[in-house]
Amino acid sequence: MGFLAGKRALVVGIASNRSIAWGVAEAMAREGAEMAVTYQNDKLRTRVEKMADQLSASIRVPMDVSSDAEIAAAFAAVNETWDNLDIIVHSVGYAPRDQLEGRYLDAVSREGSQIAHDVSSYSFAALAKAGRSMLGEGAALLTLSYLGAIRAIPNYNVMGPAKASLEANVRFMAADLGLDGIRVNAISAGPIKTLAAAGIGNIREMLKIAADGSALKRNVSIEEVGNAAAFLCSDLAAGITGEILYVDAGFSAMGMGFPVP
Ligand code: NAD
Repeated sequence: MGFLAGKRALVVGIASNRSIAWGVAEAMAREGAEMAVTYQNDKLRTRVEKMADQLSASIRVPMDVSSDAEIAAAFAAVNETWDNLDIIVHSVGYAPRDQLEGRYLDAVSREGSQIAHDVSSYSFAALAKAGRSMLGEGAALLTLSYLGAIRAIPNYNVMGPAKASLEANVRFMAADLGLDGIRVNAISAGPIKTLAAAGIGNIREMLKIAADGSALKRNVSIEEVGNAAAFLCSDLAAGITGEILYVDAGFSAMGMGFPVP
């Protein structure tokens, strides 16, 4: 029996089989969780529905996280089948492409900043607000962050402040929902080639620098992030909340890149 047997998980953020959310959903399904998934829009519907079949996820609902009405409708649809929810995974990030290239002050704008913070940070709290009545003691929420939250990274630009806000959201939500016995954590993943990552100016170079500068001298996979996510959302991690767990092959622990042997 898997360590998530008997749990019900809603995963937000599957766009392709390279998505981190897909690695998370596969790991959670493998560990016995009953799965529900969302897709951002009609363009992604067919692809995500095929992937939902592989997870035996009977609940698949549309949800654009920048719309309160769509969030409410998605949770109402989930609630029609399930009366409770044990896990919510938020694997969503977005900034307009022109924000993610070049010098920070040249790229950043009021509108770009608002969109990045709304979609990439506030939406995590919005999901918790909408799902709250279905979450009971022992439930767990998880989001995905990146090192740009605490360090300046070339081209990551306004996503850095947005991820910093997301990580603060993790702590405030952990304090608030902790009163109800609900845990809130984040995984800060090393760079992985996904659709979202392709929007960042120099992802290839970032992947090489991250591998060379890491302790393990390699990049991480969506399977590795998925396994850590399944653990964090399980009762095995019952004492962990408000935490940012680095799944980055040790990159963030290094002070200076050691030579590649
Ligand atoms: P991805 O493109 O596969 O996933 C991003 C998801 O966000 C997509 O499913 C997309 O549909 C969804 N999304 C964007 N705007 C949305 C909106 N308005 N409403 C609903 N959904 C919306 O890329 P990914 O790399 O798997 O990204 C998932 C998360 O992981 C993001 O928060 C990203 O910042 C984070 N992350 C990625 C990396 C990386 O290198 N790939 C590293 C660390 C953290």
